[in-house]
Amino acid sequence: MKVAALAGGVGAGKFLRGLVRVVPPEAVTVIVNTGDDLTLHGLHVSPDLDSVTYWLSDLADRDRGWGRRDETFRALEEVRRLGGDPWFSLGDLDLGTHLTRTHWLHEGGTLSEATDRIRTALGIRSVILPMSDQQITTWIDAIDEESGGALSIPFQVYWVARGARDEVKSVRFEGFDRARPAPGAEEAIGDADVVVICPSNPVVSVGPILAVPGLRAAVEVRKDSVVGVSPIVRGAPVAGMADRLMPAAGLEVTASGAAAAYRGLLAAWVIDERDAELGPGIEEDLGIRVGITDTLMTDDRAAERVARAALSLLDG
Ligand code: GDP
Repeated sequence: MKVAALAGGVGAGKFLRGLVRVVPPEAVTVIVNTGDDLTLHGLHVSPDLDSVTYWLSDLADRDRGWGRRDETFRALEEVRRLGGDPWFSLGDLDLGTHLTRTHWLHEGGTLSEATDRIRTALGIRSVILPMSDQQITTWIDAIDEESGGALSIPFQVYWVARGARDEVKSVRFEGFDRARPAPGAEEAIGDADVVVICPSNPVVSVGPILAVPGLRAAVEVRKDSVVGVSPIVRGAPVAGMADRLMPAAGLEVTASGAAAAYRGLLAAWVIDERDAELGPGIEEDLGIRVGITDTLMTDDRAAERVARAALSLLDG
């Protein structure tokens, strides 16, 4: 069985560890959001690509959620001491990834090529693709929390530098009109037996992937084989600040609202057992099957249970 997975960062990384316990890792192609990519200290940083890569190689820090396990932050402490502004945490081991990727990009390689070299070096058998080799940037239009004025900032400035404190008015993707899907992404969706939308932020993680010209259409034609997992449990994100962004996209912060983000793209949707009462309404509203399980992925066994629940919804 071949699986194509659309992925953000942490929620996706945890889920994918379960998925590769259910299907052979080499049968999985992960298409990852790069709308949050940014240049820091001259380095190309791809937060979601790195989260997926670290989780699949079992190098992720499970407690922190992002970055590498057994990480230190000495380089960044030195940046601060020298008068630089280390507003975005980059660990010492993590910096090795960014240095290597940036070097290969400067040599003329593509982000897909760099991503593939890194995942191969780390022993990952699943294919990891950025959504596009062209830069698409997620911008947030918000109301400045202090001045009350209008603010237009890249997603990571909103999220990390400003701690998601400003009221979001809208989310925009810049550059998608010049972008193409990464080589292999449309084919992976077209060839897959199952397309999974990981439990990721529907607005700023999966939204940018679907904004790449061609990718929404590629998923839409496969809608009978598409299953998603809700990142929202009991009206709140399990981690992160999706509740700050979903209302700006006209979505209720519930498992139903997250499903509605994918209206017309889904055959099935997995919700948490704590939200079981929402199941019939989602089935009726979207005309899809709903599966119910404990979706809290506290370890790989739990993630495997969620992956099995998702795949079994499309059986027969
Ligand atoms: P980010 O870029 O790291 O924020 O990446 P994602 O969009 O993939 O991850 C954030 C989303 O994952 C949030 O909306 C979380 O609610 C969701 N998430 C994280 N852990 C879990 C979990 O154990 N279960 C479920 N159902 N969702 C989770």
